[in-house]
Amino acid sequence: MNISENLKKLTPTLPEDVTLVAVSKTKPLEDLMLAYHAGQRVFGENKIQEMAAKWEAMPKDVEWHMIGHVQTNKVKYMAEFVTLIHAVDSLKLLLEINKQAQKFKRVIHCLVQIKIADEESKFGLTESEAISLLNDPTAGALTHVKIVGLMGMATFTEDKAQLIREFSHLKRFYDLHKDTYSFHILSMGMSGDYKIAIQQGSNMIRVGSAIFGERNYSQ
Ligand SMILES: *Cc1c(COP(=O)(O)O)cnc(C)c1O
Repeated sequence: MNISENLKKLTPTLPEDVTLVAVSKTKPLEDLMLAYHAGQRVFGENKIQEMAAKWEAMPKDVEWHMIGHVQTNKVKYMAEFVTLIHAVDSLKLLLEINKQAQKFKRVIHCLVQIKIADEESKFGLTESEAISLLNDPTAGALTHVKIVGLMGMATFTEDKAQLIREFSHLKRFYDLHKDTYSFHILSMGMSGDYKIAIQQGSNMIRVGSAIFGERNYSQ
């Protein structure tokens, strides 16, 4: 796997308004540094402590995105530096992010994760649950978190029609509420489906294996 070549091939194919989050979970620092030297500055991780360790070791102009499910008791380890939390799915979590962000006098940007896949294992809120959270007066009063958009994960499938259906569904929901809630980020698309996601209106893709190669979880 040539990380720098992968990035140099992928990056120019992306529309200008699409942000590439390089998903470096499980990968060693050397791999992240190869991507960094190829110009990549936005990295995504799904484990908070792993992300914090990488943040300490990497150059400080890197933007760190938490793309995985967040346990409330671990928010404190990333509040100092995280740029965007992609998978917010409860008021309880928002309250904790707000509390921890306040300690560092920061406003942490968040996305609400919407369930678009037909798989049971995927996290996220239904559209009506998301609207309840967005309209919750307690959430609205928080001064150290800002919800800036939505995130979705499609079903793990090669069925293109299904992927189009799931992504376009989320795009429609995003467009419907974008002005009301001042959304500007729609995070959808991974290595296997980012092209379809972009065609359907994504402006932030989370790409891991197509940059860094397959992950080895046994190590
Ligand atoms: C791991 C992960 C990705 C990247 O997956 P690839 O298929 O390797 O591109 C994207 N989004 C989330 C939420 C992930 O956990």
